[in-house]
Amino acid sequence: MERENMIQRNEMQVEFDANSVNERFARVTAAAFVAQLNPTMDEVEDIKTAVSEAVTNAIIHGYDQSTGKVRMSCRLEGSQIHIIVEDWGKGIEDVALAKQPFYTTRPELERSGMGFAFMEAFMDDVQVESEVGKGTRITMNKRLGNVWEQV
Ligand code: ATP
Ligand code: MG
Repeated sequence: MERENMIQRNEMQVEFDANSVNERFARVTAAAFVAQLNPTMDEVEDIKTAVSEAVTNAIIHGYDQSTGKVRMSCRLEGSQIHIIVEDWGKGIEDVALAKQPFYTTRPELERSGMGFAFMEAFMDDVQVESEVGKGTRITMNKRLGNVWEQV
């Protein structure tokens, strides 16, 4: 067997309505999928927090009061987890500014502007792609520490 085929891969996608009740659904679903890698409790909490922040942003900022869909894709590759959260909402005008800690466009909702900071703190890297009027895609990666990679 080629070495390439020996790294275990597994992938899933879910798409759901941009409704706040689905924040919990997304977070629990991601945690359940990652469970097959035997993550530590801390790793699970990190992933749940990051997913929660990304999905909440899609619902609250991406779609505001309007209806729409959010898609979460998770891919496991060896001990790496890749998570993509996408919306087709209003998009972000200035991504660098939006990523600054404490920056929020919704202070009236008692948002603290820490969502991106949390995602970056809890995942190894976070990429934000966004186009105004088209939507936003957040890609987050994390390598789990206690998984034996097959070589
Ligand atoms: P908190 O996450 O602490 O409740 P917040 O959501 O305002 O507050 P961040 O998550 O860091 O803070 O996001 C910063 C800003 O980026 C938001 O206020 C919003 O303007 C913009 N933003 C983030 N995600 C999206 C998205 N999916 N679509 C449109 N705008 C977004
Ligand atoms: Mg946020």
